[in-house]
Amino acid sequence: MRVSERIEGLTPGGDDGWGIFHRARALEAQGLPILNLTIGEHDIRTDPAILDAMHRAARAGATGYAAIPGIAPLRDAIAARLTEATGVPTARDNVLVTPGGQAALFAAHMIALDPGDRGLMIDPYYATYPGTIRAAGGIAVPVTAPAETGFLPRAADLRAAAPGARSLLVNTPNNPTGAVYPVDTLETIAAVCHDHDLWLISDEVYDTQVWQGAHVSPRALPGMGDRTLVVGSLSKSHAMTGSRLGWLVGPAEAIRHAVLLATHITYGVPGYIQDAGLFALAQGPAFEAGIAAPFARRRAAALARLDGHPALRAVPSGGAMYLMLDIRATGLSGTAFAEALLDEAHIAVMPGESFGTAAAGHVRIALTLPDEAFAEAFARLVSFAEARVAARHTDA
Ligand code: PMP
Repeated sequence: MRVSERIEGLTPGGDDGWGIFHRARALEAQGLPILNLTIGEHDIRTDPAILDAMHRAARAGATGYAAIPGIAPLRDAIAARLTEATGVPTARDNVLVTPGGQAALFAAHMIALDPGDRGLMIDPYYATYPGTIRAAGGIAVPVTAPAETGFLPRAADLRAAAPGARSLLVNTPNNPTGAVYPVDTLETIAAVCHDHDLWLISDEVYDTQVWQGAHVSPRALPGMGDRTLVVGSLSKSHAMTGSRLGWLVGPAEAIRHAVLLATHITYGVPGYIQDAGLFALAQGPAFEAGIAAPFARRRAAALARLDGHPALRAVPSGGAMYLMLDIRATGLSGTAFAEALLDEAHIAVMPGESFGTAAAGHVRIALTLPDEAFAEAFARLVSFAEARVAARHTDA
């Protein structure tokens, strides 16, 4: 049977950018010990206290259809969190609870785009972005944020891409680069959205993972409350990736439509998961800092190891559970580096090329192995890069 062009076109060529990850999993299945630095998933599991709350809720009967927009106390808790973070008054009807940030990204683009509309996104981008925009019927248009600016988008590039577009998707703290957008970058973004009447879709799922600088939500900038859709999630902040709990926050009228979309796509999020999310949010900032702390520790260790290193350079970054490494001194592409590193050193990393064109010649490592395994993997990666650089100079 024929499948639709829309679904066939989600990932043109069938490449979802996760080739190394799949190959690493296949090698593991053959019994090879692979140190996997590809995926943005904690090395700890969801806290038992959160699981207890989930269990209690299920036993108490929260197993039927839950309110489609989200249960009222959870919507209120998310609204309070966003009010506090952005200063923009946020109420229950500004919030849709979604099965993860991913569903919120889709809903945001369904709100913003008609079929054939241009949805801008910053390259390097999180691997699902282009497919999400296409799933909503849009044309995914990358705007390059080059390595030279620390992967921050430039005003001229945004302004060149904006005419005729309907939305701009940004992500700070950023996956894959770790960039935390400074206020002047956000002000530029806000001005472009204002001048070209764009929806700003702000993916803030890493907002609790900031190591340098501070997270500023662009929704907080003057005049942006009415045109910003914020994507949030408990996946990263509370180590709840598998629970699939996130949200979309925006103007009440837009959220009203997103609720209708949810009625026809997901029919809501399980009630016991929402109760667990409410419990998780009530644990407060110290709990969230505890979840983030291992990434800060591993990042600091990796940066100390690379200080003054001739072959490998860490891209200056301020947040998220990743480090982007510039491996251009090896003469390899990110993909060739990642393939050889997997074959020869049994370390899996993401090629920068998986995230668009701007991060070519880079690899992204996730800071998601326990400290000792991370140190071992990182040491092997550094030796591999050093050997490649040395061989290159011998050849020359
Ligand atoms: N945005 C970004 C930038 C991400 O890295 C991820 C997950 N890796 C998501 C959104 C989606 O996360 P979830 O659906 O688990 O909330």
